[in-house]
Amino acid sequence: MTRDDALALDAADALAPMRQLFDLPDGLIYLDGNSLGVLPRATAARVGQVITQEWGRGLIGSWNSAGWMDQPQRLGDKIARLVGAGPGELVVADSTSVNLFKVLSAALAVQREDAPTRRVIVSERSNFPTDLYIAQSLCQQQGCSLRLVDAPGQIAAALDADTAVLLLTQVNYRTGHLHDMAGLSRAAHRAGARVVWDLAHSAGALPVALNADGADYAVGCGYKFLNGGPGAPAFAWVRPDLVDRFVQPLSGWLGHAAPFAFEPGYQPAAGIARYVCGTPSVLAMAALECGVDTLLAAAPLGGMAALRAKSLALTRLFIAAAAERCAGQGLLLVSPDDDASRGSQVCLAFDPASDAGRAGAAHAVVQALIARGVVGDFRAGSPGKGLTGGAQDSAAEGPAANQADILRFGVTPLYTRFVDVWDAVAHLRGVIDRGEWREPRFTQRGAVI
Ligand SMILES: *Cc1c(COP(=O)(O)O)cnc(C)c1O
Repeated sequence: MTRDDALALDAADALAPMRQLFDLPDGLIYLDGNSLGVLPRATAARVGQVITQEWGRGLIGSWNSAGWMDQPQRLGDKIARLVGAGPGELVVADSTSVNLFKVLSAALAVQREDAPTRRVIVSERSNFPTDLYIAQSLCQQQGCSLRLVDAPGQIAAALDADTAVLLLTQVNYRTGHLHDMAGLSRAAHRAGARVVWDLAHSAGALPVALNADGADYAVGCGYKFLNGGPGAPAFAWVRPDLVDRFVQPLSGWLGHAAPFAFEPGYQPAAGIARYVCGTPSVLAMAALECGVDTLLAAAPLGGMAALRAKSLALTRLFIAAAAERCAGQGLLLVSPDDDASRGSQVCLAFDPASDAGRAGAAHAVVQALIARGVVGDFRAGSPGKGLTGGAQDSAAEGPAANQADILRFGVTPLYTRFVDVWDAVAHLRGVIDRGEWREPRFTQRGAVI
């Protein structure tokens, strides 16, 4: 395969025109849309209009006239179309961490009533830390414990008569492993557990089928594949037959059945509206809507299924090109080789026996790539047990996925081109071949690494 072959793939790509919807800096190869999505071209003008017209001129009347009050549900309905949920089932609110606290509390409350002896939350040790931290906090408050497994293959066997909730991120942030939502939801239910899915790395990246695959609760992130901007609001979904069971613990006035009755007593709204807490962030929601609209604009071109097919073609190209062009440089593939279990990212690590591996060079290699205009990211391995504070049910030392320093390259099929992938691998080879990562300027660490 040559660079011309990559260009030919772009020329034949029916989704290629979608890239025009984004304001990408010239010359940059951006492979970090799984951490912060790119700015859509529509966003600045739309947010400007909300500021100058809706806020500036309409002032408080815009809560009604500009539909600000309906935003969490109206935008929720749009996101629902991307994740296999129905209208009225999903709301936009707060951050992913806060929404996870709400849905995990509700799942535990349902189990306290249905199966009070079940006191264990099962998750992966390599799950995103905020998910584990929120689970630890709830365990401390509710006298539960956390059972962490070290590999996807161990999840089903960890579900037993003590398990209250299975908590998973559908695509693991460190490895790019895509879990089988239908199979694991079924396994959880068979074991008598509820299942909570975090869609941070899957909503907008691949087709998600919350209802069809038997999920109970879900949360997701607005600023990754939904392109909603830094700190964009997140979302929460609860399966319709569970949504009216229990009030989520952050019982704010906008989740009240009649917020403007100003009653002193809390009465939850029916349905998913009770998962709203306080006043929505109107400006941030306007930006998020522009991001979600970029994904919905792909519907006539095949929507999420077409985006998934392109994403897999991009990650396959990355893996094949890296295997061929970086052979002998000590790079190991951390992501699954098998398409069906790979999300929209390629994660690499250095063989500890290689030069770069011995030097712990993963961070410096990522920095050297950024200096060449190829933006991926670095995720540090955690060498220790990885859990402090909360009670822990089984304290096996965590090997493998959690320990290696990871070089992470996300592809976003709306705007990543095949030639970007090709060129990124060429730069990766250049950085390692020339030992560029040894330069002192690449060993500095920023606040966000
Ligand atoms: C990005 C991400 C989050 C982000 O949480 P915030 O509350 O928005 O900071 C949470 N969980 C997972 C799995 C993520 O990847």
